[in-house]
Amino acid sequence: MRPIGLRRNRGQLLTLPGDFPGARSGLGWPARFGYVLKLMSWKLLPYVLLALPALCVNGVGQSAMPGDRLRQYEERAVRFNAVIRLPHFETTSNEVLETVSSTIAEANSALDRIAALDPRRVTFQNTVRALDDIGYQIGLADSRLYLIKETSTSGTVRDATTEALKRLEEWSVGLDYREDVYRAVKAYADQKPHLEGEDAKLLLETMRDYRRAGLGLPRAQRDGVERMRKELTGLCTDFESNVTKAEQAVKFTKAELEGVPDTFLAQIKTGPNEYTVMANITWHYMMVEENAKREETRKRLLLARDNLARAKNIPLLEKILPLRDDIAKVLGYKSWADYQTEIKMVKNAATAIDFLEKLKTGLQPKFDAEIAEFRKLKVQETGEANAQINIWDWRYFSNQLKKEKYDVDAEQLRVYFPYQRVLDGMFSIYQRIFGLKFERVEPPYTWVKDLQLYAVSDVKTGEPMGLFYLDMFPREGKYNHFAQFGIIEGKLLENGKYQRPVCSLVCNFPTPAPGQPSLLSHSDVETLFHEFGHAMHTILTRAKYSRFSGTSVPGDFVEAPSQMLENWVWDKRVLDSFAADYRDPSKKIPEEILGKLKAARLATEGTFYRRQISFGLMDLRLHTAIHDRNAKQTVPLSNEVMSRVFLPRPEGTAFVAYFGHIIGYDAGYYGYAWADAIAADMATVFERSSGGYFDPTAGRRLRTEIYEPGDSRDVNVSIEKFLGRQRSLEPFLEKLGIAKQQKVAGKEN
Ligand SMILES: [Zn+2]
Repeated sequence: MRPIGLRRNRGQLLTLPGDFPGARSGLGWPARFGYVLKLMSWKLLPYVLLALPALCVNGVGQSAMPGDRLRQYEERAVRFNAVIRLPHFETTSNEVLETVSSTIAEANSALDRIAALDPRRVTFQNTVRALDDIGYQIGLADSRLYLIKETSTSGTVRDATTEALKRLEEWSVGLDYREDVYRAVKAYADQKPHLEGEDAKLLLETMRDYRRAGLGLPRAQRDGVERMRKELTGLCTDFESNVTKAEQAVKFTKAELEGVPDTFLAQIKTGPNEYTVMANITWHYMMVEENAKREETRKRLLLARDNLARAKNIPLLEKILPLRDDIAKVLGYKSWADYQTEIKMVKNAATAIDFLEKLKTGLQPKFDAEIAEFRKLKVQETGEANAQINIWDWRYFSNQLKKEKYDVDAEQLRVYFPYQRVLDGMFSIYQRIFGLKFERVEPPYTWVKDLQLYAVSDVKTGEPMGLFYLDMFPREGKYNHFAQFGIIEGKLLENGKYQRPVCSLVCNFPTPAPGQPSLLSHSDVETLFHEFGHAMHTILTRAKYSRFSGTSVPGDFVEAPSQMLENWVWDKRVLDSFAADYRDPSKKIPEEILGKLKAARLATEGTFYRRQISFGLMDLRLHTAIHDRNAKQTVPLSNEVMSRVFLPRPEGTAFVAYFGHIIGYDAGYYGYAWADAIAADMATVFERSSGGYFDPTAGRRLRTEIYEPGDSRDVNVSIEKFLGRQRSLEPFLEKLGIAKQQKVAGKEN
């Protein structure tokens, strides 16, 4: 849990892989993540090393500003009453340790100052605002060290930052329960001060966090909450480590693995005619479930996977769920789901359930049609007229459908996406729609040779908005996914000046092979548009308090603006503005290939989302319906919900035992579909404008109504202001190709 008033959101935002490899084949998010990690192999490393000097020379299409241009940019900020500065990065283990020690010491004395306040002299400045300042300082150290941990080229420094962050984390846990600080803040709140806007929200949410930690309860009850939370933490850690450690080998003969690619078989051969598939290794599992022709094989592997960690984790879950329920009830909530969603956009469990149920119903015709397509293929393949689609079948027939009907080879698009061209193309679109100017500047310090730094200014006024780094190619020891890392968040400083933000993209695009540039896949391009959206969210902020600035918005909203921007790369006009064959730039992407890609994606959307919804509803059901007296119902109930919404779960399986989200995203899985729906709704503002995805008026509105306020006002308000109307589920259903079908069905009835 995030400590009171202290910003622990590192602003590190993963891409939610809308289109990563395996994404549309309906992997759950955690599984997809593992799949992507597996694909990022270090086989690429020699190429990285070869490519480095070339990358430095190639640079970006425009020449870098000399060093004094960065200084001029910093000086220009003064005219706008703003502060621009680059962070000082620690480069040795000693420096890292020193940073943590001084951060903790300074925060402790600042907290002591609040605690020592005379209750008659408490003010907004010296309590609530002071807490936000402390959180900001801790956040600075935390974010910077986190970036160093993930990007440093020195293993020693990476280890030192890992240790340092652990120390910071352990120390910050106790901050929730500093009663002396709470008393001072409460003394101020008790004055019932008349505050407005962001100030009022800051006080309200600071007090809300204290209440949620149990600080508002009588001593005995509060101690009880603290005790239960500690117990819960231990149980959750055990659950997660059981998920990590779970292993199950399943042996097959070659004939049983008919249809599975030979390259894979070569890797799993363990004896003469013996092949060992690990049910816990996601890409092993996918390889077989998507390709194995024999139903019995797919079934056997699924049964193994859906029993992983069962013996250890089900007894744990039967303690975790009732414990969560107890904590929620002591704190005055009906359920853990209500407790968890209170601080989200959705605000309560009933709204989240209602959303998923509506989406489930909306998807019914499309889901039915897709399953019917799968069934047709199965009838064809098996010759059994009554063949049904079981839960171990859908991946295989979904894969067959894509191969046979759409014949898509996304790989052939790479030649249209040379890295530099894509980057420049994306920059020019974002500069245009948001009214910005990006200029490359020389970073005084770089953690890796090919690091780039850009300065962002408002194109009309010249106001400096912030800086972003680009660390785009893989190397040993580096973070192996794609993310935006906040480094310095925006905040109104005590001296009345505004601290402008600094952030970094940390990505792993393909390194250039000898004789050709780095060629991105279409999904890489989508990822870039997505991640850079987070950078815009960070940089364009104008929130006063760090608690609200940049991407510090509720977890069920934060991905929506970036998911919206993914639409751009499916638009022919957008793609034609930059994508061209690197060998002959007069050649643009053929409409036909893009069309096939879109059709293939749409072909299994119903299945994909019904499965997502089944997880979301199962998660919410467990966190509203399981308590002390019916803990043994955990497995039957979870199977029942998933069977109702997706495909029947076989007897004797316990999917939930291996469902890691039940720990980290508890009562939060709904958020993925929730944010997708908002993203589709928001995209309509561009789609219905005269300039489409290039429209600067719509872009300006995104900037002022979504990016600038951050969480300084209710995001529900921000979204409606951006939309200019109430939210609607229709655009999402339409995007999934459903609304029309439903209307037709309605007429027929
Ligand atoms: Zn993201």
